[in-house]
Amino acid sequence: MEDCIFCKVINGEIPSKEVYSDEEFYAFRDVNPQAPVHLLIVPRKHVERVVQFADEDAALIGRMILTANKISESEGIVDEGFRYVLNCNLGGGQTVFHVHMHILGGRQMGWPPG
Ligand code: AMP
Repeated sequence: MEDCIFCKVINGEIPSKEVYSDEEFYAFRDVNPQAPVHLLIVPRKHVERVVQFADEDAALIGRMILTANKISESEGIVDEGFRYVLNCNLGGGQTVFHVHMHILGGRQMGWPPG
């Protein structure tokens, strides 16, 4: 996906602050952090929107949460609490069309999110 920003982040064409990497996922610090800890975990597989995941992706989705949990633990945000966010489409606040989950922590989160 040649025009995808996050594919370029994953392959190193766009520099990023890596926090985790394996054969399925890449996690890095958000360039415009909304909390003291603001990370993005992205599957290396290019899927534009969360609603485009297929049944065959069920295990991948599960491993994304489990991997995010390990990252949250290593970032020290589990005891205090944190938030995972998946935005979908423009109305949902999605600006980059490669599925990514936000990991936010280090401050009190409000509700509704706005
Ligand atoms: P979303 O609005 O859910 O699509 O989130 C996209 C996020 O990606 C935003 O929080 C941006 O700040 C972040 N972002 C965009 N480009 C980069 C980049 N090159 N490196 C790190 N974060 C980025």
